[in-house]
Amino acid sequence: MTTQELRENLTGKLKNGFERITQAQRAEMESYALRYRAFIDACKTEREATAWTCAEAEKLGFVPFTYGMATKPGDKIYLNNRGKSTILAVIGEKSLASGCNICASHVDSPRLDLKPNPLYEDTELAYLKTHYYGGIKKYQWLARPLALHGVICMKDGTTACVNLGEDESDPILMISDLLPHLAKDQMKKTLGEAVDAERMNLIVGSEPLEGEGSELVKLHILKLLNEKYGMVEADFLSAELTAVPAGKSREVGLDRSMLAAYGQDDRSCAFAEIDSILHIGTPTKTAVCILADKEEIGSVGISGMQSFAFEYFLEGLCSAQGVPLLECFRNSFCLSADVSAAFDPCYPETCDRRNNAFFNHGVSIMKYTGSRGKSGSSDASAEVMRHVRQTLDGADVIWQISTLGKVDQGGGGTVACYMANRNIPTVDAGVPVLSMHAPMEITSKLDCYETMLACRAVYLA
Ligand code: MN
Ligand code: MN
Repeated sequence: MTTQELRENLTGKLKNGFERITQAQRAEMESYALRYRAFIDACKTEREATAWTCAEAEKLGFVPFTYGMATKPGDKIYLNNRGKSTILAVIGEKSLASGCNICASHVDSPRLDLKPNPLYEDTELAYLKTHYYGGIKKYQWLARPLALHGVICMKDGTTACVNLGEDESDPILMISDLLPHLAKDQMKKTLGEAVDAERMNLIVGSEPLEGEGSELVKLHILKLLNEKYGMVEADFLSAELTAVPAGKSREVGLDRSMLAAYGQDDRSCAFAEIDSILHIGTPTKTAVCILADKEEIGSVGISGMQSFAFEYFLEGLCSAQGVPLLECFRNSFCLSADVSAAFDPCYPETCDRRNNAFFNHGVSIMKYTGSRGKSGSSDASAEVMRHVRQTLDGADVIWQISTLGKVDQGGGGTVACYMANRNIPTVDAGVPVLSMHAPMEITSKLDCYETMLACRAVYLA
């Protein structure tokens, strides 16, 4: 063989996805981007993503799960787990004894939750106190438009849904930042210390009610809240209200090849799972789509990936087929669909160029995540990685291998370890993201589209 032939046959290649996709695929990619944007603009919280997904699933013939329900191949089922997480399944030709093909993502994102007793007045301004959720760089959330999303559960059994600040005619909420002219002391602090979490208070009013007494600005806000939502101050105690960046997704770049939106971690992967499972036929093995909550704070709690809600669902399906759940787990496979850090040429020193995800190189596969010595990672085996290569290459998916930055630079985890703990072979895969966890995160349309193709390939494997 010539040197050129040896080079082609023996060395790994890194090709930009745009050199590889066809014109027809580009058109599909653009229509996928439109569907994805409709989802991400409508779903800024795990509750909104759950409601949206269950409604779409019902339209396409999915029926609500009941424990022990009899199923046949092609049946489509969904579980709305307390309004905060979702599991969908399409029953396969094979028995559940041969396992499921699972894609697991999360639909919660970093944000600013309201404290249980949030409303107060200080110096004739009314505020809502917040408590940040997930890993944020606090300075990014100051002096920018924020919207309020969530629910208020009244004592009379009714629930008010809140979505304030998204419509152009809505007011927005904001957190003030110190003007540079008076920030001499603040500017000396580190980025991590410069913004005190207890100062992250949302400005919600300044006009006092007419009349006697104190705290008339606060009282004015309570009056408006009562008129709009029928609530009183004590109803904050049974509410889940959260401030998220206001506004819709946008195309980025003169070539419009990228998307900016809040919450692409991890709703870019969640939508890849949803869009593919909603439209597959009858798979060989049962396909399962998980949209978990609480990943950003450790996958804990009743709606997180560590919850037995998953066992409840899958055991409910297994029991009708007379299959032990643990046998089903053992023979299953899971793609832990979560975003990865895209290589940022402005911060090259944080990444290992030879082992990083790049924009437009397709869905990023991560053998392991974790920090330091792979701590907190599930570390997929060589055998599992072979299965991934076979599955993705077999479906012509554009994919790349990656790790999360330089060793000892930081790290992170996903739901992968909680799936692997259940004796399910699991690997991480997802959309590379720039500015992850920022109020607006950037992805490439091509990578989002290829992640959907990867989920479909896994469901149909
Ligand atoms: Mn994530
Ligand atoms: Mn995250």
